[in-house]
Amino acid sequence: MNREILAIDGSQGEGGGQILRTSLSLSMCLGIPVKIENIRSGRKKPGLLRQHLTCVRAAKAICNAEVEGDELRSSEVLFKPGKIKGGEYHFSIGTAGSTTLVFQTIFPALLMSDLESKVNLTGGTHNMSAPSYEFLEKSFIKLLNEHGFKVSTKIYRYGFYPQGGGEWLARVLPSNYLSPIMLTEKGSLKSRKAKTLTSRLPEHISERELRQVVRKLNWCLTETEALEVDAFGPGNIISLQLSHDSHTEIFDEVARLGIKAERVAGNAIKRVKEFLSSDAVVGEYLADQLLLPMVLGAGGEYLVHKPSLHTTTNIDVINRFTNNTIILEELEDSNFKIKVKGLNLISKS
Ligand code: ATP
Repeated sequence: MNREILAIDGSQGEGGGQILRTSLSLSMCLGIPVKIENIRSGRKKPGLLRQHLTCVRAAKAICNAEVEGDELRSSEVLFKPGKIKGGEYHFSIGTAGSTTLVFQTIFPALLMSDLESKVNLTGGTHNMSAPSYEFLEKSFIKLLNEHGFKVSTKIYRYGFYPQGGGEWLARVLPSNYLSPIMLTEKGSLKSRKAKTLTSRLPEHISERELRQVVRKLNWCLTETEALEVDAFGPGNIISLQLSHDSHTEIFDEVARLGIKAERVAGNAIKRVKEFLSSDAVVGEYLADQLLLPMVLGAGGEYLVHKPSLHTTTNIDVINRFTNNTIILEELEDSNFKIKVKGLNLISKS
């Protein structure tokens, strides 16, 4: 049967690569052909960059899709999905583009296969404006696994901008039973940790970053860790991790040339303070990333403070594909409850 093609405007709302990625994931999982137009049209370098192109090609490989427009800088992609096939895959971005975003695009489809999948990814692992490998593993995947998902990862090499070359493996297994994700109360703080990952840079950088955490957040030295990692080029990230009864939130800041270590740490510290002083249970970034696995899984609900444009745009795109499965309900003091009706497509029971 030829299904009608769904047209998605890639310039709506936040207007970034997430509209493309969410559309690809849902097209694969729901078997809906999609045409994504005006991709990233408002960005300085519009159209498909290498990370986005890798997402399109990875999605194509996994579901044997018919695709038009899968070229660098293309502003329009027509994607007609076929049957999803689990198994072994290797996707290489070829630049320092974010591998975690490629993973997030394809893993829901792999969860729908009866087979175990192993996906080897190469490119960036710690990028600005993308989930870091730490965030993906210790916050996003950890939370999903606590609700029945079966995903594990292993990192072989870190990939910082601009060299990239990071490499890691994701193992995705079909789930038997998924439970709804309910994050409406933080609960008590169970642990906190400040971790720096550094490659080929002087030791004083991570020392200065961690000193700021001890000073400005009053965390103990025993809650800090400086890790030297293996990467092709220099790089540094500070990762502040807060584990409450509900789940773990991670606040990362990637170091940039010319920005002082104190300021890098300061940005992450500011976000921790904002999160702790708000009623939000789920932080800004996890809030937009949870929507897709929740809608394809068993749904649930969570509390956020002022949803980001990424979150509201992602809700709009998902609602177009799924006939309004997500409701954003305003509470008091700029707090919002996000209610997701799960389609139960990615568990076998
Ligand atoms: P563009 O260049 O078009 O903005 P993009 O493809 O790089 O696009 P976005 O559409 O901006 O990406 O989506 C970025 C994703 O990365 C979002 O899901 C957002 O939650 C996530 N993200 C950004 N910064 C962080 C961070 N510090 N920690 C965790 N996740 C993050």
